[in-house]
Amino acid sequence: MAIAPPVTVPNLNEISLPSGLILLDGRLVEPLRPDRTIAAIDPATGGTIMHFHACGVEDVNRAVEAAQRCYESDAWQGMRPIDRGRLLERLALLVERDREELARLESLDSGKLLAVTNAIDLQFTIDGLRYFAGWASKIAGEYVSHSPLVPEPAIYRAYTQRRPVGVVAGITPWNFPIGQAIQKIAPAIAFGCTVVLKPSEETSLSTLRLGELIVEAGFPAGAVNIVTGYGAEVGAALVDHPLVRKIAFTGSTATGQRIMEAAARSMKRVTLELGGKSPAIVLPDADLERAIPGVAGAIFANSGQICTAGSRLLVHASIFDEVLAGVCRIASEIKLGSPFDAQTQMGPLISARQRDRVAGLVAQGLDEGASALSGGTAPERDGWFYAPTVLGGVERDMTVMREEIFGPVVCAVRYDDVADAVRIANDTPFGLAASIWTRDIDRAHLLADRIDAGTVWLNTHNVLDLAMPFGGNKLSGVGREFGSEAMQAFTEPKAVCMRLDVAAAGF
Ligand code: NAD
Repeated sequence: MAIAPPVTVPNLNEISLPSGLILLDGRLVEPLRPDRTIAAIDPATGGTIMHFHACGVEDVNRAVEAAQRCYESDAWQGMRPIDRGRLLERLALLVERDREELARLESLDSGKLLAVTNAIDLQFTIDGLRYFAGWASKIAGEYVSHSPLVPEPAIYRAYTQRRPVGVVAGITPWNFPIGQAIQKIAPAIAFGCTVVLKPSEETSLSTLRLGELIVEAGFPAGAVNIVTGYGAEVGAALVDHPLVRKIAFTGSTATGQRIMEAAARSMKRVTLELGGKSPAIVLPDADLERAIPGVAGAIFANSGQICTAGSRLLVHASIFDEVLAGVCRIASEIKLGSPFDAQTQMGPLISARQRDRVAGLVAQGLDEGASALSGGTAPERDGWFYAPTVLGGVERDMTVMREEIFGPVVCAVRYDDVADAVRIANDTPFGLAASIWTRDIDRAHLLADRIDAGTVWLNTHNVLDLAMPFGGNKLSGVGREFGSEAMQAFTEPKAVCMRLDVAAAGF
């Protein structure tokens, strides 16, 4: 690991911070108890950026009631779908206008590399708004041919509609803050719902700025509301609120399980995008010039804080040493540093707690018999950094092999044949994603069929597309977002059946 120069601290005057006001019923306001605040911490330095509000249950109630009022209003119900799309398009233009500024704010608050935030997160945000803007006018049910149980002189016409579920609660994590906010807001609005969004308390700033842009874009009052605060208080109150009809959640499996249990009491719809322990499988014929940097990027991008990170590296015995040497070389050369420094290749983890959790899991792995082939330490410096780490000598029952670490730590496993690779790949409680690295097109597709995961990539990893369904199997979640699946997730089917009286009509 290269020793990084001191962190470049950006001048806060050059970064436009949000007001900190929450978005409630179309206005930026203070919560009922404005004295309760949360510090936004710069993870690259540990310094405080600003304070924002820790809302309470009463603020959640006001936000949900505003969303429900808007949802029930004639104006919202009567709005042309294409005009809901225009709201999203207007917001896309404003995000585009403020793109550089939003990227700086996001990097400051989350520690994500500025170049990546701009190229990936902001692009995803703008594309997401435009993608779902297009969907608003393409909601469609189907015509159903109907067979009456008893023949009669009548003809039945039956069709289905897709009706919005109602008020949606969007709850987001800290690893892709603005992108995740749009992943909840854009489909909700496109499909005719209204929404209350709660960003992660670790990274609320870009979502608060988004709230300001939503006001500027002229969304109807109550269509989108944003409340900041703690999960156990604000998140739980949203999940329990009787007027909320659906929870769109992205976060950890433990929280997802709590939400699903709570949602069951009122049968709220849920989509849960949760954790993963995704395998990157390198077959013996892989093009190693692509595969080695590919599998390294699969785990080290965003400091390993990606739900689909390739955190288990499965390599055929014949090329294991060569692949491991390549991945360890990359890991040892990754330059840690300020997200604002163009030379930096990896930023910090989100918080001291997360850095300590990663360090604790690695220490436990080493205690249980694994060895650190690269990294395995937290560098002595300000901020919450952790060295890119490659663990060897791992066994299936070790905690590092079973649990999502959510940091730059990969477990390397040797396998002997394809059947062995399938068994190891699926030997996890998660089922989010996987990648397969090979030149053999038959084996690539046949192996993809056998992997129990929501997404399988061939010769690439961590590639998302808004048109592709995204979500996980097993403990990785419930339901899918993106693509046409989003319409299923944010609408309910309604069956309509009409009897045409043949005789009365004179036929
Ligand atoms: P987290 O579960 O701790 O928090 C996520 C959100 O849930 C936050 O806004 C938090 O305040 C809220 N929350 C916490 N407790 C709650 C409760 N009892 N009721 C309602 N809301 C509550 O997750 P995190 O640490 O912020 O994010 C990291 C996790 O997210 C990782 O496990 C990662 O794999 C997962 N993730 C999954 C995807 C995906 O699409 N599958 C994408 C990104 C991140």
